[in-house]
Amino acid sequence: MPRPIRARIHLDAVRHNYRQAKALAPGARALAVVKANGYGHGAVAVARALAEEADGFAVAYVDEGLELRESGIRAPILLLDGIFSPDEMTILDRAGLTPVIHSRLQLDWLLDARPERPLDCWLKMDSGMHRMGFAPEDFAAAYAELADCPHVRSLVLMSHFARADEPGHDYTEQQMRVFEQATAAMHAPRSLSNSAAVLAWPRAHGDWTRPGIMLYGASPFEGASPSAASLRPAMTLESALISVRDLAPGEPVGYGGRFVCERPTRVGVAAIGYADGYPRHAPDGTPVAVRGRMTRIVGRVSMDLVTLDLTGIEDAAIGDPVELWGGQVSANAVAEASGTIAYQLFTNINRRVPLVYD
Ligand code: PLP
Repeated sequence: MPRPIRARIHLDAVRHNYRQAKALAPGARALAVVKANGYGHGAVAVARALAEEADGFAVAYVDEGLELRESGIRAPILLLDGIFSPDEMTILDRAGLTPVIHSRLQLDWLLDARPERPLDCWLKMDSGMHRMGFAPEDFAAAYAELADCPHVRSLVLMSHFARADEPGHDYTEQQMRVFEQATAAMHAPRSLSNSAAVLAWPRAHGDWTRPGIMLYGASPFEGASPSAASLRPAMTLESALISVRDLAPGEPVGYGGRFVCERPTRVGVAAIGYADGYPRHAPDGTPVAVRGRMTRIVGRVSMDLVTLDLTGIEDAAIGDPVELWGGQVSANAVAEASGTIAYQLFTNINRRVPLVYD
């Protein structure tokens, strides 16, 4: 029998979540964000599952875009980080990829290029994230250069929010004001919304949304959020018990003896560890389910193993299924317990975990 570990990917859930994104922003088209191998869910499989209905896809960089094109995806593919050298202009021209232009350097590469076909491109403003994009005062000049460029066929104006996952926060209002003022005189579609903005900032929806994490059924918000309640988890990370033992009060479990039994305790071991992508920082008490019953991690997470409290599930036996996150154990809850975010849990899933598609 192979090592009992797999990430089951529910493509129906991805489709459901994409439709939720479209329904929440009915006037907008939606680019499904599938960078970083579809947030760990398999970019090609996710894109194929959405191919019939997605208005387009977004990835971070050229190689991720090429992977989708080579797998037969024909919809628009946006490169969120644009290009990293002038040579990449030729590649994206041939593959029909759409770059985000966020810097003077990239703008010059694009203007100097001699593409075989007219290009679609997106122009990014730094409205307050202060990471990438043209400053609002430089945006009109960049826009004019692109609008006048004979090999640019279409243009979308975009920006990215720093705090959209904090519903009602004034900083998002401020970013919207900056963007609206600086683009008021421009005639081009607009795009501002990541998942948090799709879910919580209707005024930001614009012409194109860019949902990522919500497609995978996790919430971009901290804590329970009613707006994310209709999403369906797209990944179930599963293992099984491979060992069960009874420990006496005072006996420690695992490296460093972090957890010490207070009473007679049955402890199970599941075949998954931090080398698979399970967070090493998961503390005692992190939720996990054994044979459908909720329990908790006890003891430090090892490279290939985790230890679980089987109190109340005393009949648990070797081979019983363990859910690390999925329909029963929320990835957001595991992430919060471990001091991280669901984005990192998903994208950290290691190659040695088989992805199995429902
Ligand atoms: N738009 C841009 C520019 C991004 O960088 C990302 C992700 O980092 C997204 C959209 C999708 O964000 P989320 O996964 O929070 O929906």
